[in-house]
Amino acid sequence: MMPSQGLTSDVAALYDGVAQVVAATWGPDLHFGYWDDDNDASTVEEATNRLTDMVMEGVAPRPGQHILDIGCGIGNPAMRLLNAHKVSVHGITVSQVQVAEATARAGREGMSDRATFQYADAADMPFVDASFDAAWAIESMAHMDDCERMLSETARVLRPGGRLAIVDVIRRDPVAPERQGDVDAICRLFALHTLETVDRYEQWLKAQGFVDVRVRDIGDHVMPRTGMAMARAVEAKRDELVDLVGAEQADALIAFMRTASRTHEIGYIYATAIRG
Ligand code: SAH
Repeated sequence: MMPSQGLTSDVAALYDGVAQVVAATWGPDLHFGYWDDDNDASTVEEATNRLTDMVMEGVAPRPGQHILDIGCGIGNPAMRLLNAHKVSVHGITVSQVQVAEATARAGREGMSDRATFQYADAADMPFVDASFDAAWAIESMAHMDDCERMLSETARVLRPGGRLAIVDVIRRDPVAPERQGDVDAICRLFALHTLETVDRYEQWLKAQGFVDVRVRDIGDHVMPRTGMAMARAVEAKRDELVDLVGAEQADALIAFMRTASRTHEIGYIYATAIRG
């Protein structure tokens, strides 16, 4: 399936281009990190792995299960899952570059039989009903413009009783009018189409028939340190970024990483639910 215009094209461009450079400094996890507090000396790698492990705990995989990774990136969380649990994973992404990279990585690590990846839009999943035992979405929902449709698709492809875990950036209300500009700029830069609240995620999940819905904002452990670490990582690769997106965008990216680290209006959810 080709990217639909508008919705996925800027997301794909982001991940086919900038993310390749960011990945070179940030590491293979295309998601944020979790730090216990200001004194936590964890590296980016440790903090991003910790976040993956929290999502993994939310999914609580059991041997033999088949798990859907919605917005799989270059497959790092999927490979971490496979190394920790005797399960299989299928990842979807709207970036062809990521499909190729994740597939190659699974091959290199001898995991091709347990890890597969394909191009697919989460709003229209090419899977029959109840295909998966569990699913996770690690920082993919905020890129989508119809999260309700994504969740209804997720409910459809999960078997009853299947667990879902979500982490993503969210909006913390109220956003003062004079702060809206920063929030909007961050959304444009990171190709965020949905910046919703904890309450909205809870409503969406319940409306799609999920039960045992738990949604909390863990943003204070995630956002400030991630923003600062990303600004440093991206700055170290400025020359490469300039070649890729031009000086203006490269500098905007670096500046906004710093701004993002101070933008209290953007939080981060950790959500778990069970398909009823
Ligand atoms: N979960 C990965 C990647 C996060 S980056 C990790 O933690 O490393 C966001 C991912 O969401 C990218 O892989 C992007 O292609 C994917 N994504 C965004 N919109 C999507 C959509 N509509 N359908 C499927 N995947 C999507």
